[in-house]
Amino acid sequence: MKRSGGLILGFAASAVLSLAFWSMPISAQSAGDPFRAKDTPQAAGFADRLYILDGGVGHAGSAVAWDNMLAPPGTPIDISAYAHLIKHGDTWMMFDTSTNDSIANMPNGFLQGSVNGIRWTKTQAQTMTAQLKLAGITPADIKLIGISHNHADHTGNITIFKNSTVLIQRLDYEQAMDKGGNPQGPPSMPGAVFERNHPVSLLDGDYDVFGDGSVLLFFVGGHTPGSQVCLVHLKNTGYVLLSGDAVHFRSNFDTRRIPRIELANDENHWLWTVPLAFDRVAALLSYYHAQLWVHHDIEDYKERKFAPQYYD
Ligand SMILES: [Zn+2]
Repeated sequence: MKRSGGLILGFAASAVLSLAFWSMPISAQSAGDPFRAKDTPQAAGFADRLYILDGGVGHAGSAVAWDNMLAPPGTPIDISAYAHLIKHGDTWMMFDTSTNDSIANMPNGFLQGSVNGIRWTKTQAQTMTAQLKLAGITPADIKLIGISHNHADHTGNITIFKNSTVLIQRLDYEQAMDKGGNPQGPPSMPGAVFERNHPVSLLDGDYDVFGDGSVLLFFVGGHTPGSQVCLVHLKNTGYVLLSGDAVHFRSNFDTRRIPRIELANDENHWLWTVPLAFDRVAALLSYYHAQLWVHHDIEDYKERKFAPQYYD
């Protein structure tokens, strides 16, 4: 009896303690608690700056492939290839690296001669080296590169960031390596996308880059098996969600229409994985009250400021 009475008392005491714990505001719980994730708006820290780097344009003959399967055949469409630069304290990070800078040396750009038929062009001013210079840094200053997915319009310049650690989902990395040699990945671009011996940190799901909730990578899948989006928390701007190719155009996200390019990724069971990725993006936008920036949508970026200006 005595023993069970002690148990009951002990249980009651711990219930009171846990009640006190849970009634504290989330931010108070987080302080000094290394086991509590900082992924809530109340607990998250801040990145200092977010820059948009212009990586040139892709001219495509068919909006069907990129925006909406129901677009009239032959409707042309222009596609941006922005990269994003994040400053967190003294650490610089990029999210995606745009198309290969060698395209700036090609008078007619690079025609990606696949079913998607797209001609990528960029000027010398749109190379990543030139764009980083606007922020006063060089490729050697970039410590981390988050990669939305292993396609060459996003990984195009990793070879110039020799010492940067690439944060990529294991599913995308292994798929690239399965093809043998260095990851190239569709759509094919000139030059190796990145080399087998490049420093990487392989991710298995969501990842808190700086451990303070300020920059979060969320696994969404869909477009490729290991596609991820990047959520950046800024003091004045709030949360910004960088789409990668989880979303190609704002219009196809708003209408939940899948562009035909997803059919090319048949191994990903696009018909259900792409809508699931849309849903996760929508859930993240809602929970964090985040703005969505749609990486390939030129119209979406029309009103935004570009490097050397930045968001803070
Ligand atoms: Zn892309």
